[in-house]
Amino acid sequence: MYELFSTDIGLLGGVGEKTKNLFEKLGVPNLGTLLYYFPRGYEDWTDIKKLSEIDFRKDNVCIDVRIISKVKVIKLGVKKTLYKACATDGFDNIDIIFFNNKYVVDKLREGNELLLYGKVQKNFNKYEIVCPKMCVKGKHPTCLKPIYGQIKGLYSWKIENIVDSGFEYAKGKIYESLPEKILKENNLCRLEFALRNIHFPKDKESLNIARKRLVFEEIFIWQMGMKFLKKEMSIKTEVKVKRDYTDEFYFSLPYFPTNAQKRAISECIEDMGSTEGKCMNRLLQGDVGSGKTVVAGALAYNIIRNGYQTAIMVPTEILANQHFETFKKIFIGMPVNVEVLTGSLKSKVQREIREKVKEGEIDLLVGTHSLISENVEFRNLGLVVTDEQHRFGVEQRAKLVRKGENPHVLVMSATPIPRSLSLIIYGDMDISILDERPPGRQTVDTFVIDASKKERMYGFLKKILDDKKQGYIVCPCVEEPEIESLLDVSNYKEDLIDKHGFSKYSLEVLHGKMKPSEKEQVMKNFLEGKIDLLISTTVIEVGVDVPNACIIVIENAERFGISQLHQLRGRVGRGKDKSYCILVSDSKSKDSVNRFKVMVASNDGFYLSNEDLKIRGPGEFLGSRQHGTVDFKLVNIVEDISIIREISEIAEKFFREWECISLEDKNIIQNSIKNFFKMNKQENIVI
Ligand code: ADP
Ligand code: MG
Repeated sequence: MYELFSTDIGLLGGVGEKTKNLFEKLGVPNLGTLLYYFPRGYEDWTDIKKLSEIDFRKDNVCIDVRIISKVKVIKLGVKKTLYKACATDGFDNIDIIFFNNKYVVDKLREGNELLLYGKVQKNFNKYEIVCPKMCVKGKHPTCLKPIYGQIKGLYSWKIENIVDSGFEYAKGKIYESLPEKILKENNLCRLEFALRNIHFPKDKESLNIARKRLVFEEIFIWQMGMKFLKKEMSIKTEVKVKRDYTDEFYFSLPYFPTNAQKRAISECIEDMGSTEGKCMNRLLQGDVGSGKTVVAGALAYNIIRNGYQTAIMVPTEILANQHFETFKKIFIGMPVNVEVLTGSLKSKVQREIREKVKEGEIDLLVGTHSLISENVEFRNLGLVVTDEQHRFGVEQRAKLVRKGENPHVLVMSATPIPRSLSLIIYGDMDISILDERPPGRQTVDTFVIDASKKERMYGFLKKILDDKKQGYIVCPCVEEPEIESLLDVSNYKEDLIDKHGFSKYSLEVLHGKMKPSEKEQVMKNFLEGKIDLLISTTVIEVGVDVPNACIIVIENAERFGISQLHQLRGRVGRGKDKSYCILVSDSKSKDSVNRFKVMVASNDGFYLSNEDLKIRGPGEFLGSRQHGTVDFKLVNIVEDISIIREISEIAEKFFREWECISLEDKNIIQNSIKNFFKMNKQENIVI
């Protein structure tokens, strides 16, 4: 099968330069990926229904009718004409309706016998079908007809034809992608049969057999790939924590670490100090506010005291500066030189910092993705931490790692997902979890209000500000928005002052379009308490930590998903004070109302992300490709979790017995893994 993945689809009949480009857009650059470009669904022309037995919740059905009237042509306007004919299925009558399509007149001739495929509706006891697909009886497809995900210019029927000629071309070249033994033991059909029948199923049974095999393959090969990746990652390193300085670090903290923090830190130290020279590759998951920064700090301290440097990469400049301040404070009076490197620093300053990093004068470098730029060199990088990892691609992380000689890696994520799922998705990493909040934290009380209650809410907000506490207001837009109902930060601030009596408070705006230095100044002033109320876009979403802020008002809350709302809410409740989150929305849509309900009911990030996952599905939730996870074709990683587990175990066993497997089978698996990662555009990935 391997050469198919390097066979240009331009070699197929009917695929010119233009079509080739369109296929590229669909993520289909070669013959192999074409054969793995599975249909989204099928038109079933074999399951013919009587009108009276149709389940109207189902999308499309096939019916067998005879036309019993002349076509009526009704002009609806200059540009719109309606064609309507009546037909019978032998028991009931149905109206067939088309618009602007004079070619149907001939097909809808009285007496014609047709098969129709489409969505049947029932209005006032009358059946109706609009713009169905039509086939003359006897000439209809006698199998399931594939429907492909299409784009403008490359429609399903065309893809179908090209897939068909793809099979023609690949005849005799579709080699098995799973070892014979695995096929037998798990009762799976051969690849050639599976591919053929997932595209052009002979019947439903063949489709099921094909699907079963391909689902198995997808999970099995992916899990095998993860195991190899993990093995590859379990490279040895010279970087070693020979002496444990954790207690010294704890001593410098103004509070006691939580048990979860202690556990996570010791798990990491165990990795980094292992006698066999293990290279740590660990994911730290923890809800917002669970104190991940301290874990990074403890590891950095250990690594630095043992003679190496640490790099911490974060997604925004605001966060970089905040971490810089935090670490400076933690490491005061300790032998640790902290510096921050962001793109907005003057180039002279950047150069000086880079020089010091290269010389090893800086021990801990915090920064944005500017850390991975070509000209940043470390003297002896021992630990790489990425915070808010969902913002980074695997490739970016890899680039930073390559700046050292097998440094240890910690990836921190505030998108807590169920452990079973993360084991699978991040199968190449070990996992530590912070499932405990620092003591004294209260849950954030969450309320939903509509615009009519805003004046009261402002009263409440003022009381909090009068108490010398701070707050955030989040608006979806920066300036005058295009959609009228949306609020923007600039006008919001003016309105608060002019119309709602906020003139005695210090208000400031913050958004992504401001200059980095302006943003930094505003954040600094807010942190120092010089600003009472920060009116911001979602730029504060990741990581911002101001413990004195204890109210967040989120305008147009319907615009945000659960995870995002939870992240925003995580900006408050970070100190000892009772905190509030107020969701403002006039939306009555079922979807938003549901989301708000879930938000009010729970403060638990693990629970919420699970709910979010259910509502949005993993693709959207995890943002798939750029975040280094896999795009599955057939498997749904939430719904199919039990089958995933089952097949993972089979893969586990197979992997354990790897040394005893024949060379031929080894080749088969290795090729399949290569193809799998190729299809997921991850072939260059190092970690
Ligand atoms: P996360 O990054 O996980 O959202 P942070 O690391 O920003 O959380 O920590 C949130 C806040 O909790 C910070 O103000 C930090 O100083 C504080 N904090 C962290 N650990 C503890 C602890 N063990 N006890 C008290 N406060 C803590
Ligand atoms: Mg954080």
